[in-house]
Amino acid sequence: MKLQTPSGRIVVLGTGGTIAGTAADAHDAVGYVAAQLGVEQLVSAVPALAAFELEARQIAQLDSKDMDHATWQRLALAVDEQLRRPEVSGLVVTHGTDTLEETAYFLHRVLAPAKPVVLTAAMRPASAVSADGPLNLHDAVHVAATPEARGVLVVLGGRVHDATQVRKAHSYRVDAFESADGALVARVEEGRVRRVGAWPEAEALGLARIQRPAAQWPRVEIVLNHAGASGRLVRLLQADGVAGLVAAGTGNGTLSQDLEAALREAQAAGVAVWRSTRCDAGPVFDLPGTLPAAGALSPVKARIALLLELLGR
Ligand code: ASP
Repeated sequence: MKLQTPSGRIVVLGTGGTIAGTAADAHDAVGYVAAQLGVEQLVSAVPALAAFELEARQIAQLDSKDMDHATWQRLALAVDEQLRRPEVSGLVVTHGTDTLEETAYFLHRVLAPAKPVVLTAAMRPASAVSADGPLNLHDAVHVAATPEARGVLVVLGGRVHDATQVRKAHSYRVDAFESADGALVARVEEGRVRRVGAWPEAEALGLARIQRPAAQWPRVEIVLNHAGASGRLVRLLQADGVAGLVAAGTGNGTLSQDLEAALREAQAAGVAVWRSTRCDAGPVFDLPGTLPAAGALSPVKARIALLLELLGR
């Protein structure tokens, strides 16, 4: 079978995660330490990548549960710098799975690149007896080298997702990521990219939007509706100076009476308030008199969209 031929230079940016994690026991896929191996080691563990013109750069080395705004800012600048190099045809970002969908959506909203920026990760550490990182990295490089590919993409388990639809849907399975409403972009099979959906549409706000030091970015928090939910947390957050709140509501963004009352009080006091849903997928609709809806964005992505909106005010 003829594999896809490499084209252009691909830059691999490392940020840590389980893909770079190691455990003392090769059969231990949970008791490991993330972010131990450098990105060059990850690349050299996949012999087939020698066919590509690759460069590897370490941008961060963290467990993505600890991803923060300062690292996002640094990563966005690094991605932009690499994309500007004419000889670079695509980028790969190695990342942890925990907040991968947030980083992907952040880069999508800030940069929406014309070249592919492909995030990949692994559920099992690099030391595992059946590690998934090497094949995911291999597939991600093939997607990044695909001439017609563009935008921020997420590649895991042979599937190519877009940044808006993708989410980590399973805490343990290797096949942990899903696209909402089945909106897959492509599949990678034996290094071939078979498109089954559309490349992402650009909706970039630009790097100028995030130039303020990250420590000064407005604070946007998520609150959850659940049986017995009160407005107490919202009132505490308002007293603590929160700038924005995303309510992860039930169903169509519905809220308990006291939670809604507290959110309305916060809104009246100048806090930006959006409603999303704690459901796995589906939109939240604006109805007469409701708090503003976040559309089909998940709560964590709505938080990013609201943060970026507040940064523009
Ligand atoms: N905690 C790890 C991380 O997000 C999990 C993973 O990568 O699968 O960095």
